[in-house]
Amino acid sequence: MKSNNNSYETLKKQFEEIKQENEFHKKQQLDFSRALDKIAEIILKNEKPNDLLADVNDILGETLQLDRALIYYVSAKEQLIIGLCEWLNKEDPSIQPTIDTYPLNYFKVSYQKLVNKRKHIESHTNAPAVSFTEEGSDKVLHDGMHIKSLLWYPFDFENGNFYLFALNQLSHVRRWTNEEIQFVSSAARHVSMALMKIKLNKERIKLKNKEEVLKELNATKDKIFSIISHDLRSPFNVLLGYNQLLIENAEKYPAEKVRQFAQEMYNSSKQAFTLLENLLHWSSLQTGKLVPGPEELIPSELFKDLVSITAGQATEKEISLKTEIHSNDKVRADREMTKTVLRNLVTNAIKYSYPGGAITIKAERRDNDMLFTVSDTGIGIEKAYVSGIFNVDCNISKPGTSNESGTGLGLILCKDFVEVNHGSIWAESEPGKGSDFKFTLPVFSV
Ligand code: ADP
Repeated sequence: MKSNNNSYETLKKQFEEIKQENEFHKKQQLDFSRALDKIAEIILKNEKPNDLLADVNDILGETLQLDRALIYYVSAKEQLIIGLCEWLNKEDPSIQPTIDTYPLNYFKVSYQKLVNKRKHIESHTNAPAVSFTEEGSDKVLHDGMHIKSLLWYPFDFENGNFYLFALNQLSHVRRWTNEEIQFVSSAARHVSMALMKIKLNKERIKLKNKEEVLKELNATKDKIFSIISHDLRSPFNVLLGYNQLLIENAEKYPAEKVRQFAQEMYNSSKQAFTLLENLLHWSSLQTGKLVPGPEELIPSELFKDLVSITAGQATEKEISLKTEIHSNDKVRADREMTKTVLRNLVTNAIKYSYPGGAITIKAERRDNDMLFTVSDTGIGIEKAYVSGIFNVDCNISKPGTSNESGTGLGLILCKDFVEVNHGSIWAESEPGKGSDFKFTLPVFSV
């Protein structure tokens, strides 16, 4: 009777144990699948590889109830094992961080094994991995760092480089179960895929940027050719025509006619020269040969120069020119570039204004910048064109109100000049009412 009782007790105990084990496995499977869901969520949100790895590492540490979890990047090129992130069991404050970078040479046998077999390495203080004992790293890992059990799981191999999950148990020897290794392997697969996605995205962005640069270079080249073939040709045609007439008839023409021809020749040469200068400046900027030399510039002096150069043109078209300075601050920019920008904007304002129009040139402080505005009461610009007029690939060149010709290069040059001087430029306009061309330059501060 007694022995029957005994065997019943044993059976009951065994049954309880099996039940408990089953419960544990069920809970573990649930924890693993929740953790993998979390990893998938992190992957969706994270675009930075190192942040992503750190988040996944935290999940591994917590889910597997480790004492320490690290991710290394093993670089064959640099011959280094580089520590990227580390998670520590917070319940035991005595656990010290170990994250560091090590020479690959310390682990040369294990490295070869990981690369050749692409399988994890498991090692315990009482049963060290063969590769560790061969290279002598077991002494450092188990004796020196007191790691009772470790699991190294490599993933995302590329030309001998790879990432490595390094999972440590310090408090006790732990045999890794198939389920646990399966879980780590699933996490590694998720991360590999995410890293691949990030890499592809980066490549795509790089390609897109390259395409943009090529497109712009092509548009620049087209623009230069079109300027040379159309705009630079016509002033030369005028010049050559008058020249020819003078050579053949100078003695026969009255002095007044000769003077008139000379004036036309002067105008054409000036037009060609200005254009050539703009073209040279612009192409020097494009090829990086023109580097701004920033100086301290006083707006009132810039305006004085500007008015003396453009007043003649304005008077000729009966347009008034006014300046307003609302700040005593100076700006920091390249002198010639700033003068060219202002001159181009005012020349345009004159060109696109009707006789009787008014132009105001203004300087005012705005935060850390000086805001310059050239306002006119001219023809204005249609909404659809306003954003494109500063772009090289947008070809809109209109004749002026007195049929002055243009090249569509001036504003492109202005944009480049302003931007290399750390400013920005834009236009606000209403067709039929006029335009405000605005640009900023940094205020000079000591
Ligand atoms: P261009 O004047 O030689 O054609 P720009 O690059 O200076 O070249 O100007 C590009 C175009 O922007 C002009 O052709 C004109 O259509 C428009 N634009 C520029 N400034 C003004 C302005 N003040 N008012 C109206 N339209 C303007």
